[in-house]
Amino acid sequence: MTSIKENKLSVYNSLSRSKELFVPVVKDHVGMYVCGPTVYSNVHLGNARTFISFDMIYRYLKHLGYKVRYVRNITDAGHLEDDSDDGEDKISIKARLEKLEPMQIVQQYTVDFHNVLRLFNNYPPDIEPTATGHIVEQIKMAKTILENGLAYEVNGSIYFDVEKYNKDNHYGKLSGRNIDELHSNTRTLEGQSDKKNPQDFALWKKASPTHLQFWDSPWGDGFPGWHLECSVMSTKYLGDQFDIHGGGMDLKFPHHECEIAQNKAANGKEPVKYWLHANMLTLNGKRMSKSTGNTLNPDELFSGDTPLLEKGFHPTAVRFFMMQAHYRSVLDFSNDALAASEKGFQRLMNGMKVLKTLEAKKTSTFDVKEWIEKCYSAMDDDFNTPILISHLFDAMKIVNQVADNKASLTKDDLELLIKTLNDFVFEVLGLEDISIDNSSDKLSGVVNMLIQMRNDARNDKNWSLSDEIRDKLKDIGIQLKDGKDGTSFSVE
Ligand code: AMP
Ligand code: ZN
Repeated sequence: MTSIKENKLSVYNSLSRSKELFVPVVKDHVGMYVCGPTVYSNVHLGNARTFISFDMIYRYLKHLGYKVRYVRNITDAGHLEDDSDDGEDKISIKARLEKLEPMQIVQQYTVDFHNVLRLFNNYPPDIEPTATGHIVEQIKMAKTILENGLAYEVNGSIYFDVEKYNKDNHYGKLSGRNIDELHSNTRTLEGQSDKKNPQDFALWKKASPTHLQFWDSPWGDGFPGWHLECSVMSTKYLGDQFDIHGGGMDLKFPHHECEIAQNKAANGKEPVKYWLHANMLTLNGKRMSKSTGNTLNPDELFSGDTPLLEKGFHPTAVRFFMMQAHYRSVLDFSNDALAASEKGFQRLMNGMKVLKTLEAKKTSTFDVKEWIEKCYSAMDDDFNTPILISHLFDAMKIVNQVADNKASLTKDDLELLIKTLNDFVFEVLGLEDISIDNSSDKLSGVVNMLIQMRNDARNDKNWSLSDEIRDKLKDIGIQLKDGKDGTSFSVE
């Protein structure tokens, strides 16, 4: 394993728009904050991609030996429609619609979020704070910013004064915008906002009489702004200056821009050393998004119960598909791409099984240490998982050559290869060996045999037998799906 003291890891920092050597604020320790979900609906595969990307980053940092404190919040209040300052709370809308308490909505979708991430083999974060659990701290930070003269009160709401802040700071430095451009691009409906300037944003909002979740404050009953919660919770658990702040690309502006401004306005310090942004999962070339309905839910993915897929896929095959793209690249989702990844993953698993059966020889014809260096170099280059995976497949070629007596490896090299592959495949990439599950292997064998018998029946035009096989399997919860590459099956 490379020593963390060698400091080889470089990360792409959105703030400097370049790759930088990763040097943590406190030696050997890493503080990482990632914006969590707003829990008002089921997570879709796009959300899952962002959290899987940061899970891989968390895993690699831990693998390198860092003591990582990973904080990921749950947004359970304050996130308004269209990410605006004037709409209704997303959780309240759902609560009203379903005639439930807002906290029931929060509980339901937090549980769903955790279940989905567990299926994808994500580690839980070390701390998972909620916005409603930190109202006192949010009021305190809003008060400090007010006292520092960088916010103002109107009718029981507190707004951040962007123009004033921008006199000594650069609001827009993360997203590469400037304030004049923001001024002309920010829409506001005449008479609907109390703000001095449209680009100002709410730290605290007065609750309207119909608002469902509100708290007492020095400015009357209200609720915190969405951006404030992350400023408060990140610094509460990681300190005024910490190493990594992550989230999806779409959060760069305004959410993360506002976080920087709030922390700087409250204590004079920029909060984050490295801003990391994960790119979007698209479906038919368009961003997967709750608001447009262009989504695929994990349940549909696992069961195959969607016109988008020819069959269901195991979560680890989906995770492998995601790891084959760099976390900063857009990834387009499709049945064919996923099916190709599943095949590739199976090849990797089979190769790793063959590796364990290989006979050691006196000499090696393959430089395992050099190969290990290449694997680490890929990951040290801003977590380049697709390059890492290409090196893993290079190792599989050697495994096949050794099995065919066309190459050789010593006992030490065989052991090193097995250990390194296990480290990268299972620990760092977080994949699971699904082929060691003998019962599912046997099930596949039996169902594939029945599919073959059904095909024979169809070739003989024995439709009653072919239908009977399909229907009987369906009765016991196994769905056959006929596609252009033959018949596949999914288990309910
Ligand atoms: P939300 O619950 O909408 O606040 O989103 C939770 C996280 O999912 C944020 O970090 C978003 O950036 C991320 N996200 C939303 N849509 C996508 C997508 N299509 N691909 C990747 N990440 C996404
Ligand atoms: Zn956030």
